[in-house]
Amino acid sequence: MNKSVRTRMAPSPTGEMHVGSLSIILKNYAFAKKHGGTFILRIEDTDKVREVEGAKDRLMDVIHKFGLDWDEGPIKGGPHGPYVQSERLPIYTKFAKQLVDEDKAYYCFCSKERLESVKAAAIANKVPPKYDRHCRSLSQEEVAAKLAEGSEYVIRLKVPDNQEIKFNDLIRGDIVINSDIIDDQVLLKSDGFPTYHLAVVIDDHDMEITHIMRGEEWLSSTPKHILLYEAFGWEKPVFAHIPIYLNPDGQGKMSKRKGDVSAQSYLDKGYLPEALLNFFMILGWTPEDQRDIVTLEEYIQEFDPKDISKKSVAFDLKKLAWLNGVYIRALYEKDHAELIKRLTPFLPTDFPQEKLGVILPLVYERLERLTDMEELTSFFYQDIEQDKELLLKKADVELVKKQLTEVEEALMSGEWSLSHLEESLRGIQERNNYQKSQFFMMVRVAVTGKKATPPLFETMEVMGKDLVLARLKQARQIVSA
Ligand code: GLU
Repeated sequence: MNKSVRTRMAPSPTGEMHVGSLSIILKNYAFAKKHGGTFILRIEDTDKVREVEGAKDRLMDVIHKFGLDWDEGPIKGGPHGPYVQSERLPIYTKFAKQLVDEDKAYYCFCSKERLESVKAAAIANKVPPKYDRHCRSLSQEEVAAKLAEGSEYVIRLKVPDNQEIKFNDLIRGDIVINSDIIDDQVLLKSDGFPTYHLAVVIDDHDMEITHIMRGEEWLSSTPKHILLYEAFGWEKPVFAHIPIYLNPDGQGKMSKRKGDVSAQSYLDKGYLPEALLNFFMILGWTPEDQRDIVTLEEYIQEFDPKDISKKSVAFDLKKLAWLNGVYIRALYEKDHAELIKRLTPFLPTDFPQEKLGVILPLVYERLERLTDMEELTSFFYQDIEQDKELLLKKADVELVKKQLTEVEEALMSGEWSLSHLEESLRGIQERNNYQKSQFFMMVRVAVTGKKATPPLFETMEVMGKDLVLARLKQARQIVSA
């Protein structure tokens, strides 16, 4: 590649960052880094009606939360700024007028009412609604007179008739479309703002973008962009349209109706950003050796947009949970303090902080999300209710009462240590020849309220004598009641 690679992401501040968008940022970022290039962030805020307050800052914030960053863009600046479209309006006007001067675009003065009736007529005739080019044939004098009167106008592209529009997509190959299906696009709106099509082409050219990787929902816009590149006589970038994610159940495009879609919501649910990045990497792309665990550095080396699957893939939450568990366990081994720091915001307010150091080793292997911590540990510090039926599983009331009393008595004396706990409980079970699974499950349910917990003796040791004895007593009352 002789030109330095420049990629970009161009989010609109109309909502929160979608997981699909974050995954596309990752691809653009990695591809730029792989080639020693530049990754640019541009904010496309030309649709003032749909803009959401604060969204721009949150979009930027969440990129940083994932440990990614742009080389040029808002805050940072760069040689092609400003990087926020609403600050670039004079540029778009200049280029739109240039196209008018070159007879590649034209002023359109049609009223809303007229446009609506043209559309209604098309729908009634069952033809795709397109502008009827009413103003395309206005003479220069007519245009000058309307402008002098101060009539409202938009600028439209003169789309050529029956021309093949061709481009290559890195993922989908050659694409050919006939220009007859394309409307005479509005380029500049009556409020002086550009449309997405005009602004995106001007900015990608001005910012010297070499590769455009974006969601496949933009594929149908690309022929319009190609026409604009041709009208301006500009070199086209390489395009790659990335398949969108399907809902976790594999049905339909991932949508809010079926679950969370914002990148932030996954952080809020206790997924580690690095695990999510790894998940985005392997959704629709597989490294040559098929492994699942891929670091950012490895991805930068190995990722090639050509190898992205053409097919949409499901946002497989089971796989995500598994991956997250792998990353949590790795972080526990590598940097204990860091895991504690990340867990802290997810702990319930009544969590006994001073015990985190002893509780964590017991449960970290079962954490799939940082939010699982409460569910896995609440019995250490919150009141529990034991289920009578569970306590009495495979035994009758008299037997369980006897067993509970024996355990209470054995634990009342002696030091509170792992070996004492183990010896006492094993001793009772062996001496009385109690069925192992019944006895230990009953004790587990009695002290924790749960069928599945970390190893029983270690758990009891951490819980402490007072709590364990109180729970045994509580269980005895429940079975007797
Ligand atoms: N502003 C568009 C968006 O919000 C950018 C599309 C593109 O990448 O060209 O996704």
